[in-house]
Amino acid sequence: MTKKIFWSILLVAGIVLIASFVTIMDSLYRYFSSLQLAQMESQLNFAVQGVELSGISYLEGLDGENYRLTLIQSDGTVLYDNMADVSTLENHSDREEIREAMETGEGESSRYSGVLTEETLYLAKRLSDSSVLRIAVSHASVFSIAAGMFYPFIIVFLLTVVLAVVLAVKLSKSIVKPLNELSFENPLENDVYDEFIPMLRHMDFQNKKIKEQMISLKNSSNEFLAITENMSEGLVLLNEKGVIISINSSAEKLFTADKSCIGKDFLTIERNPEVTKTLAKSTRDGYSETKISIKGRDYLFRASRIENGEDFVGSVLLLIDITDKNRAETLRREFTANVSHELKTPLQSIIGSAELMENGMVKPDDIPRFVGHIRAEASRLLSLINDIIKLSQLDEERSLPEEIVDIFVSAEDVREILNHSAKKRNIEFLLSGEHIKIRGVRQLIFEIIYNLCDNAIKYNKENGKVELRVYSDLNNAIISVSDTGIGIPPEDIDRVFERFYRVDKSHSKETGGTGLGLSIVKHSVGYLNGQINIESKPGEGTVVTVVFPLDKKDFS
Ligand code: ADP
Repeated sequence: MTKKIFWSILLVAGIVLIASFVTIMDSLYRYFSSLQLAQMESQLNFAVQGVELSGISYLEGLDGENYRLTLIQSDGTVLYDNMADVSTLENHSDREEIREAMETGEGESSRYSGVLTEETLYLAKRLSDSSVLRIAVSHASVFSIAAGMFYPFIIVFLLTVVLAVVLAVKLSKSIVKPLNELSFENPLENDVYDEFIPMLRHMDFQNKKIKEQMISLKNSSNEFLAITENMSEGLVLLNEKGVIISINSSAEKLFTADKSCIGKDFLTIERNPEVTKTLAKSTRDGYSETKISIKGRDYLFRASRIENGEDFVGSVLLLIDITDKNRAETLRREFTANVSHELKTPLQSIIGSAELMENGMVKPDDIPRFVGHIRAEASRLLSLINDIIKLSQLDEERSLPEEIVDIFVSAEDVREILNHSAKKRNIEFLLSGEHIKIRGVRQLIFEIIYNLCDNAIKYNKENGKVELRVYSDLNNAIISVSDTGIGIPPEDIDRVFERFYRVDKSHSKETGGTGLGLSIVKHSVGYLNGQINIESKPGEGTVVTVVFPLDKKDFS
């Protein structure tokens, strides 16, 4: 800016300086020239009169040092010259002023010296004898005057440059100062040149627009964050160079990273070659997925290419936990295989016995035994189907009718039913406790107590003992079933709740269990928001405890 102002000032000053110099020089030169001409004319007139009266002797008597007077004969021969020896002078008939004077009576001309430093003015007048008297004065030419003015001009010019610099610096400072003090936050509050007002108004409008856009951008970004941060799936956004631009909490946990990974290459948090391959494939084909294992869980890793028009601008990575789905799938497959097997065994036994009787291969005395066998297998089949139905109902997670249930009463019902089978094996079946009411599903509470007591009798020893207790603490209702039976080996404890899992597979037929009892118990306890715990010592016995939270408001 300072530079621009400086050059503008210098240019204007230079032009003005030169123009005034030329104009002044021209006017002065003209003025002095005309003055000199007038003087020369009057001097010549005097001289003409003198020569007319007294002849050449008049000229010789003159003391004309300031002027050069020359008398030229009509043929051009110089008769007299007060400043030169006439014998050295050549014929003057070709001189412009002489020729003019001879023709018209008066002549005038001017001539420059060889180097243009001097100009000589000539005035000539024809005398009565046709000779011509010429007066000449030399003075400095306009060029030499101009050359003489060169140094003063340079000084003035240098002064102008200095002045231009000072002025430019001062001017630019005074122009820039209010601009530097401009507040861009509130443009309309600035007190600055009027010329700036439209620009400031425009700026104010733009500011408001930017603010609005920023707010809406921030809202969208907050919305995006709120949604992605609460996602159970891991989400990572990468730019076109594979650099992380956003990562949600789930993905951070998965990759054991934090928000500081933003701005770094995705490879810094995950180096699994399968992931890298999938990512590369998605940038090429648009989409790719693979299954990976992180920290013992299974994930579906999905990568999608993001495009802006034709351009590739980044990738979206989604990690979905499929561990439960995989497990459920495996369980379902195992369950179907187990159900088929468990159904097939009693059916084959029934068909085998029936065929033997049909073909008359069974002695009449043995027929009741065979029929009894068929009935036992059929009842096993029925209880198996019943248990499968119960489990599938629980799996469906349908809501069942709830009511206030007295657990002790349910325990009494169970004892009533199972007392007979306990007695058959000489097992003491004791019930103790208090009447505790909870809100729940009567049928499920009955199933829980029944299955636990049934197992406690089934897996007991002759003359053993089963103790069923119903009691409560401050917050919970507790059912405990303890037996003095065979117990469960520690390695099997966690697996007894699995469907069709039996500790002793070879004796399952004798005990008559379906392998689904504890699965039904676990599901039912879960449905009623309870907790189940099993403790056992092989050879000594087992204690199963079920705890239900007491909801005080139900009984207030
Ligand atoms: P089952 O119908 O075979 O009894 P459960 O699901 O009720 O099936 O039990 C699974 C397995 O857990 C049983 O086969 C048995 O081996 C073991 N079990 C359950 N309860 C007891 C217990 N009280 N004492 C010893 N073993 C038990």
